[in-house]
Amino acid sequence: MKAQSNPHPLNPPPLRNDCFTMPQGAHWTPVETASNHLRDQLSAISGVETIPIASAAKRFLAQDVIALRSHPPAPNAAVDGYGFAGPAPDGPQQIPLVAGRAAAGQPYIGAVPKGQAIRILTGANLPEGVDTVVLQEDVNASETQIAFHGPLKRGANARNAGEDMKQGDVILPANHQLTSADLGTMAAAGISEVAVRKRLRVGILSTGDELRDPGTNADVGHIFDANRPMLCAVADGWGYDVIDLGRAPDDRPKLRAMLDEAAKQCDVIISSGGASAGDEDHMSALLQDTGSFALWRIAMKPGRPLAMGLWNDTPVFGLPGNPVAAMVCALIFARPALRIMAGGDWQEPEGYLVPAAFTKSKKDGRREYLRARIENGHVQVFASEGSGRVSGLSWATGLVELGDPAQKVVPGDLVRFIPFGNFAL
Ligand code: AMP
Ligand code: MG
Repeated sequence: MKAQSNPHPLNPPPLRNDCFTMPQGAHWTPVETASNHLRDQLSAISGVETIPIASAAKRFLAQDVIALRSHPPAPNAAVDGYGFAGPAPDGPQQIPLVAGRAAAGQPYIGAVPKGQAIRILTGANLPEGVDTVVLQEDVNASETQIAFHGPLKRGANARNAGEDMKQGDVILPANHQLTSADLGTMAAAGISEVAVRKRLRVGILSTGDELRDPGTNADVGHIFDANRPMLCAVADGWGYDVIDLGRAPDDRPKLRAMLDEAAKQCDVIISSGGASAGDEDHMSALLQDTGSFALWRIAMKPGRPLAMGLWNDTPVFGLPGNPVAAMVCALIFARPALRIMAGGDWQEPEGYLVPAAFTKSKKDGRREYLRARIENGHVQVFASEGSGRVSGLSWATGLVELGDPAQKVVPGDLVRFIPFGNFAL
């Protein structure tokens, strides 16, 4: 059976040239304003394809999924035992057995007469005349009869047809990202193929003359490129088709040529470094000439400006170069933006209030994300807030989010902890 799908789905239109342009005042933009802008201005950019459910994990549904068959399709036994017409009254019961049995995939043909019982196994369809099952462990049985203690309600240990899903029900909504559980749900409802968005092709680019690849020679002026393997793995975990675009030097013509190539192969480009407004911030400088450029000064720590724009219609997210800032900006902005462009729904990361194990006083007017982990039921933060200290991301199992107003945290105060798992890391 196949899910219905549009036979000739059109590819969605590219993003508008001004999709990243946001009214900017003298003040820094709150995280919420920036997020709302992405939510409202971006749209799905990947086309639609129909694929087998087995390869659909992490894909975004292009349309609602409708159950092709009820689950279970017929009433059946929830346990191994003996089936009969219920209820059974209070007190000791003795019921004669019919010959034969009902097992999963091996139905009993015929009806069980009233006042008689039949051997039945888990998953077997209830034969005609049976609506109740007594658990095998509660029964003394011989070849010809069973004895047990009542009462037993009508319908005990039996599953109704369609109690889980009914044919024709919408079981999963469009834009939902399929989980491994969803593959089981769709299979149970008789669905073998599903219409999903094509995998977003996400290019990851590092920029900076100082960068070298680990394993190659580096002198004191060089640092190893930490962002690229990290961001490639992040995007891969989100279910995208990752294209490693390598490293660009701080050289405008070379970066331009790399962006031209990248825009042909990618739906989205995520770069790190060179995103501010300094002499060596070539990513910003090049995007500036496209007419689509926006430099978002976000009231957030860590994270300096985010450079965004379209390069030949391909959206570019210019993340800060410092690894911690690059990671946090990827989680807070690139993740929801990519989800929308990949055909997904808007999703806020789920966080939990956990008592703090730390002391901190923060300024008014910016949101802060601290590397954090749970220790003995309390949340502890990394000893340093330096945004170059990438090892703190390895130490952490999530982020503490402190809201925009000034705040003094003392041990025992409840703070919002977002496990990395809730960013799908
Ligand atoms: P930028 O935003 O280019 O000014 O870079 C800010 C800081 O992040 C500088 O100290 C860079 O050396 C560092 N940085 C930039 N890109 C990377 C990278 N891919 N891996 C590690 N550090 C980086
Ligand atoms: Mg740089």
